[in-house]
Order: sequence, then structure tokens, then C-alpha cells
Amino acid sequence: MLTIKSKISELPAIGPAYVKKLHKVGIKTAGDLLFYFPFRYDDFSDVKKNSELELGEVVTVVGKIVDIQNVRTRKRKMSLTEALIEDESGLIKAIWFNQPFLTRNLKKGINVSLSGKVVFAQDGFQISNPSYELLGSGQSLHTARLVPIYHETEGLSSKWIRAHMKSVLKLAGEVEEFLPTSIIKNQNLLSLSEAILQIHFPDDEESTKDAKRRLAFDELFLVQLYMMMQKKKWQENKAVKIKFDKKIEKDIKEFIKSLPFKLTNAQKISTWNIIQDFEKNKPMNRLLEGDVGSGKTLVALISSLAVIGSGFQVAFMAPTEILARQHFEEAVKRFSGIHTPNPSQEGNSIKDSIVLNNSVESKKQNLQVRFHSPKGTMEPSNIKINSIWRGIGVCKIALLTGSESKIFIGGKTEKINRVKLLEKIKKGEIDLIIGTHSLIQKKVEFHNLAYSVIDEQHRFGIEQRGKLQNEIIGIKDGIKTVPHLLSMTATPIPRTLALTVYGDLDLSLLDEMPKGRQKIITKLVAPANRKLAYKFIGEQVQKGRQVFVICPLIEESDILEVRSATEEYEKLKNQIYKNFQIGLLHGKMKPKEKEEVMHKFSQGELDILVSTSVVEVGIDIPNASVMLIEGSDRFGLAQLHQFRGRVGRGKYQSFCFLFTDSTASKTHQRLKALIRSDNGFELAEQDLKIRGPGELVGIRQSGIPDLAMASLTDFELIKKVRYEADKIIAENDNLKKYPKLSEKLKKFTKDVHFE
Ligand code: ADP
Ligand code: MG
Repeated sequence: MLTIKSKISELPAIGPAYVKKLHKVGIKTAGDLLFYFPFRYDDFSDVKKNSELELGEVVTVVGKIVDIQNVRTRKRKMSLTEALIEDESGLIKAIWFNQPFLTRNLKKGINVSLSGKVVFAQDGFQISNPSYELLGSGQSLHTARLVPIYHETEGLSSKWIRAHMKSVLKLAGEVEEFLPTSIIKNQNLLSLSEAILQIHFPDDEESTKDAKRRLAFDELFLVQLYMMMQKKKWQENKAVKIKFDKKIEKDIKEFIKSLPFKLTNAQKISTWNIIQDFEKNKPMNRLLEGDVGSGKTLVALISSLAVIGSGFQVAFMAPTEILARQHFEEAVKRFSGIHTPNPSQEGNSIKDSIVLNNSVESKKQNLQVRFHSPKGTMEPSNIKINSIWRGIGVCKIALLTGSESKIFIGGKTEKINRVKLLEKIKKGEIDLIIGTHSLIQKKVEFHNLAYSVIDEQHRFGIEQRGKLQNEIIGIKDGIKTVPHLLSMTATPIPRTLALTVYGDLDLSLLDEMPKGRQKIITKLVAPANRKLAYKFIGEQVQKGRQVFVICPLIEESDILEVRSATEEYEKLKNQIYKNFQIGLLHGKMKPKEKEEVMHKFSQGELDILVSTSVVEVGIDIPNASVMLIEGSDRFGLAQLHQFRGRVGRGKYQSFCFLFTDSTASKTHQRLKALIRSDNGFELAEQDLKIRGPGELVGIRQSGIPDLAMASLTDFELIKKVRYEADKIIAENDNLKKYPKLSEKLKKFTKDVHFE
């Protein structure tokens, strides 16, 4: 007897070839097949008489085949199958292209149901390429209803899936309900088995909505539960409590005073979020989201001061050597500048530099509020604390990458032997260790790491991130003490989405750029103006500026993408700019090679860098003034905006040229948003509206399943999901009361690979 656990090979009429195909899309059992959902429907539910058909409509007709034959068109050597269908109202012609085998099934005298579009031909209306099925075979599957359309990968056609889906659908009743009854009731959801029936073969439009709502609820709910449980698990650890005491307050104050600019409000709020987290003895796990150039590094550095001031170490990991070096240089510059406060920065003190909370009203009030440090901080006894506070000015900073080890001690930077550096880190003689993946190698042992910062977090795998996160600095009574964690990203994901996608993290947004940033002049360039743009770029280079050229995104194929970038590179080098130094960067190059090219570009040895979309996000090249993007219509707005953020970082007026061959006015409308807005969050919201959540970088890679993905903009639903998940988590009993839910969650997290 068949059950939902039956192997796919045990189902009727599925041979080994199809078993293989199904396995490829992850379908192993009858139950798995039930969970292979359609992504849309053809609406063939409008059944009409032959005499009532209207041009252009999509309909279903039912009747008897009175004639059918295959013919060949002489001109184009195409095979046509022509049939005449009769119902009580009259005749209609149906026509299929290149499917002569149809006449094996469709014979004169047979009753059929046909669905398709009514078109006009020489001799009147006909239905072209209709879906068909024989009458008398029970419930209709392919015509006369809402017909499910599935993703047709691995040579699985929708028609094939429908036929076999029907044979397993009678098992839907066996699918176990895993949601607690109270949730189903409260949220007015279909039962799971009903939802499965309706998602595949819905009664009507309304039913598809109900079914989708239930199944999307499930996915979102499981994602949310997973995130919340991760968060809880993480918080069962302990972290070092970093007191925000007078001394630290003073240090930070002085530091902020020493900066040659004012912090943005968003920087103040984010810094304060972090410092408040430090005061708890639970480990922080916070995501700092902010546009390119919004000043994330500085937030990380200021918060580091609190940790260093308490005698603990900070690790700061970046995805590439260049970025690590850049951070190191910024840290050195900022931290050694402490003794030369800028007198012009009147009023830039801690009191208005850091605000107590996010509410606007309280900001003013905060100017008078004194910071209080929590009393009675407790440290697990086996944590090593560096006994002497050395002051910010003499903060010891190290750079550790694959090819470099350097330290900044006593006011100067010098090279140091790697082994010696590792020793110093282990002994606690370095406060702030900045580096690449090198930081998470086994050889690196920290003395008392209390704060880990991960820049461009999406560039690291979950495991790599985990390594810095789980660095254990003490264990007491079986409870681990782990560092506080700050992840940073320049991918602006609107808050509402981020809460779902990164539900295990707390969120701080830098949604405001430092004052006085120059506006980058953005232009849409039609193909006819290409020459002009090239001329302009040539002049910029002649003036000593540098230029990025980004090649189109080719989603389907890395190889094609690399080829197109290489061709572009050759073209510019050999035809357009023979006298300029031009470099090439793409995803198929080794990390070392990429680093080298980026390094050359940042050193000014290259005038133009041709690159695929792999080009570094965080890199600071003040001398670059032009960003040229080929095939710009292929990118999301948020991503284009990120590219654009790579210029305009210095004192030169900068330009972003969006090249497109597309003539569609919709495309132009979309790209024009970039001319209007220079706010990454705004642009991400627009992407979301126009192209859906799957298009946002960072969400696409999140591992969120399809229905949940499609529902990410359904804020009502998300609110409800979160409400129910919160309630269950608050019961604090590890889902013990809900064994079925617990089991489902385990399977779900195994199938879905969260990143
Ligand atoms: P990102 O958020 O992209 O990582 P960075 O941290 O690299 O941005 O900051 C870009 C530049 O802006 C750095 O040179 C930094 O020193 C500077 N910066 C940071 N905060 C401010 C501010 N409030 N005002 C002016 N410049 C700032
Ligand atoms: Mg950065």
C-alpha cells in the first residue's frame, strides 16, 4: 500500500529515468512530491460554447473531435496538427505546431476538453496550441480549471507532474499537521492537507490564496522559529560585561572630539546600541547595515574602544587583504590622532555624540543625561583581564593577513615576524587585531577576545563567521563566555525584511550619510552616446583620475560573464585606450590574483579597471572618479547603487554612467530612480516593489524557501507569524510541548540551507 513515506519508485508508472530526475530536484518520497508546489496557474476555468468564443480570450471548449489530421506546411516545413471540434453550438478549429504524435491519442470520435487562446486565422477563429485532455478520465487536470504550472527543471514537464501529482494527492490526508491547533484557529488557516490539495488543484482563485497563505505561513513560521531558537541558544552563552564607566566615557569622548568631522546621528545611535549591548552579560549578535561610505568602520572602532579600555582584545575580520589593510590604516590614523583634537569641532562631545536611545524626542533630552555605569559587574573568574589600562593613544594594533603582519605600537607602524605577532596576540600584548581569514586559523590564539567584528559579513561562510563568534574565552559552571559579535554589511535590506531574514540578529542601520558628501553625477547613456562617454573618460584619465568599468551580470553562466569581461578588457586595451594602463578582474581568478589587481588599482598603477560584479564593495579609492556600468539594466538598483558608491570617495567630482541597450521605457524608468535617489535603503525598497525580494542581494543567498520569499513583502502575514513564533519561544521549553512541530523544524532546517 502506498503511503507518503513510499519511495517515488514505488509509485505507479514512474520509471528509473524519472526517479533520477525527481531525485535531482530533491523528491525522494510520495510526501516530497506533495510538497513540490506550483509557482503559478493557467486559468482555463472559463468553459465556453464554440459559438460564444471571443478573439484573444483564454478559454476551455468541450466537444467531440469530428476530424483530425497532420499536415505539412510547404514553406516552413512545419508539421501542423489540425482538428475540428464540435459541440452542440457548432464547430471550432484547433491547431498544434510540431506535435504530430498527438494523433496517436486524439482520434476522430473522441470527446476532449481543450484550453488555450482564441486567435484569428484565414478561415475564422481557432484555438492555437491548446492544452488538452480526454473526457471521461475523471477530474480534469490540464484543462477547464486553474491548471498548476510547476518549475520545469531536469526535464520534468508540468503536464507530467500534474498527472503524477494526481495519483499521490489522495495521500494528502496523511500529511501530519504540525502547527499547534491554536495557531490554525487564531490565524484562520487551512489545514495542511487541505492546503496541499488546494495548492495543486485549487477549486478557485480564492482557494489558491488560502492555500498559499497557509503554506507561506508555514515556511515563514519555521524560518522565524529557527532564527529565534538560534538567538536563544546563542544567548545562553555568557559574554564579558563591558562597563561604560567614567573612564571609558572620557576616552571615547576624547576620541570623538579628535575626529576631523562630526558623527552622523545614525553612527551615534548605532554606537550606543552596541555599547548598551556590551553592558549585558549576554553576547551581542548585531548586524550593522549601512550604505557604502556611511562610516561603519568608525562605529566598529569607537565601540572597540570600550572593550580595549576594559582590558580586552578586539578582532576585526575583513574578506580581503586590501580591506584589512585599509581598516588597519584607518584605525592607526584615527587612534593615533587622539592627542590632536580639532579645535574647530566645538560641541562635538560625547553628550551629543552618543544618544541614549533611538527615539527622536529623547535626543535633545539626552544632551543633559549622564551616562551611568551598571553596578556590580561580574566576570567569570577564569577570564584574563589585562591589568593596566594603557589609554587609547597607545592602543596596540596589529594587522594579520596571508601576506603581511604589522603592528602599530608606540606611535609607529612596523613589520613584525608572523610567529612573534601570534605570540604577542596570545599574550594579550595586542589590543586590536585586524586581518583576513588569517584570524580564524588554528594557529591564532587570543588572550581574551571579547569583541569580534566581521566586515562584509556575507562574504564569509556561516562556518567562518562562527569561528570568531565561538572563540571561547572562559568557561564557568559549564557556561561558555564568548565574544560580542558585530557583523557589518553594505547591502541595504529594508528593516522589515531584515527582521525576517536575519531574525537571529539585532539590527542597527546607518541610514544616513556623513554631511558634505559630494553627489555623484549619474547619467543614463544610450548606445549612440557611447563615443562621447569614452571621450569623457579619456579626459578624466588624462587628468589623473581612475575609472571602473563593470561588465553585465550574466546570471546563467559564470563562464560567459568572464568571457564578456575579458572581451571588454581586450577592446578597451587594444582599440579604445591604447595608451592607458588597464586591468581585469573577475570571479574565476584566484584570490591572490584578484588582490594583486585591486592593489595595483588602489596604488594608481592602473587607470581603468574592467571587472565583473565581483569588484570589492568596501574598497576606498579616493582617486577613482568614474563608474561605468555596462548592461546596467541587468542589475538591481541597490546593487547599481553599491557600484556607484565606489567612486566619489575623494575630493574629485565623480560620475556614474549607466549604459544600456534596452529601449524599454520601463527599464529606463527603473534606472532613473538612481538619478533621483542616493539612498541605498530607498533604492532597495524600490527593487523590492519592482522586482520582488528575491532580487535583493543578501536575500537571494539567504536560503529562504520560495513561498516564504514571495511573502516577504506581506507584512501583515509576517507580523502574525512573528507573533505566534514569539509566543511559542516565550514558553521557553524548547518545543517540548509540540513534538510534531519540533520534528518538522528539524527536517526543514536540514533541507533549507541557511546562510
Ligand atoms: P563603510 O560604511 O562603507 O565601511 P567607511 O567606514 O569606509 O564606510 O567610511 C568611509 C569614509 O568616511 C572613511 O574615510 C571614514 O573615515 C569617513 N567617515 C566616517 N564617518 C564619517 C563622518 N561622520 N563624517 C565624515 N566622514 C566620515
Ligand atoms: Mg566598509
